[in-house]
Amino acid sequence: MPIKLPSFRPRRDAYPPDLWTKCPSCEEMLFNKQLDKVQRVCPSCGHHFRLSAAARLALLLDHGTFVERDAGLQSVDPLGFVDQKSYPDRLAAAQLATGMRDAAVWGTGTLDGRPVAICVMDFGFMGGSMGAVVGEKVTRAAEYALAQRLPLVVVSASGGARMQEGTLALMQLAKTIGALERLRAGGVPYVSVLSDPTTGGVFASFAVLGDINLAEPNALIGFAGARVSAGTIAQELPAGFQRSEFLFQHGFLDRVVHRSELRGEIATFLGYLVPASRRNGTFADEPEPLGLPSFRPLSFLSNLAERVMPSEADAPTNGSGSHDSAHEPAAASQVSPESGAARRAAVAASLPAVPAHDTPEAAVPDPVEQEPERAPEGTVDADAHDAATPERPQDAERG
Ligand SMILES: [Zn+2]
Repeated sequence: MPIKLPSFRPRRDAYPPDLWTKCPSCEEMLFNKQLDKVQRVCPSCGHHFRLSAAARLALLLDHGTFVERDAGLQSVDPLGFVDQKSYPDRLAAAQLATGMRDAAVWGTGTLDGRPVAICVMDFGFMGGSMGAVVGEKVTRAAEYALAQRLPLVVVSASGGARMQEGTLALMQLAKTIGALERLRAGGVPYVSVLSDPTTGGVFASFAVLGDINLAEPNALIGFAGARVSAGTIAQELPAGFQRSEFLFQHGFLDRVVHRSELRGEIATFLGYLVPASRRNGTFADEPEPLGLPSFRPLSFLSNLAERVMPSEADAPTNGSGSHDSAHEPAAASQVSPESGAARRAAVAASLPAVPAHDTPEAAVPDPVEQEPERAPEGTVDADAHDAATPERPQDAERG
């Protein structure tokens, strides 16, 4: 009876893969031990092989300074997810293969003598996919960096969100971004290093939010795959549009740095980017809301009314003298001020009272004018009173 051999059996002339690695770029056979000595960069063509988390930490941090934190975090299987294997089986296999509990490691150490909080990802663990554990580690690293005023360094290597955790994996986008925003508000620097590959949910969340975004040469960086991207916009995309160099040329990255210079580059930047100092014995990191202009429904409505009302007031004028264009502006200017104001008052009166937190600034420009009105209602919080006063929208407009 013939024995069926597995199809993936290597050819006889192939080099044993535990000893040799073939460079995918120049096809040179590289001795693994030699490759490890040169930080897994091909000596003949400069191709950057992927690094394990441990090798990455050894590359960046001063020897023996790394202290891992939250090493025990481990994924559970909240969805009971099964594809070809069950999720717990996949996790166990990845843990056996890599010796890690999940695709990210975070901790503290010194980088060229400077203390940092650092989180590194390992593509070898389920494609570096981001589930709840990876998101949590990045978040905790950012929160620790904020609390301790340490620069944060995150090295990404990921295929994206972990599908086995579904929505819980997607939620990590919001969580990590929230933590990084607090870090930004607190004036603590964040250096992001994008290695090959940095795609999907990791690209879409924390990987490109660094104060400085560095990438290794020729790293695959992007959100969706090239075919999906091209299909979505129904256009041919330029060659290499998801590679570091292309992204750098188009202003998306700050530097493309050879691995041998990465540590030195980060150290240089950390020399410039110093965490904001403490203030009055506490941290100067009262988290301001996202640096966006505050959106207040009341001011939005009154602005809208401002735009809509004059044209309605003009309507009769336009109707009577629609051909007399020369007189129209004068007529409009005579009519609109009082009718506009009257209508605004009517609109304002008809608006419901607005919760206090929506219009805290409105009280600032003219606190004195409001004092007499405020007195009778002494029991009400000043802010709440101001917000509930129907005249507020007009005042806000004039101010
Ligand atoms: Zn090569």
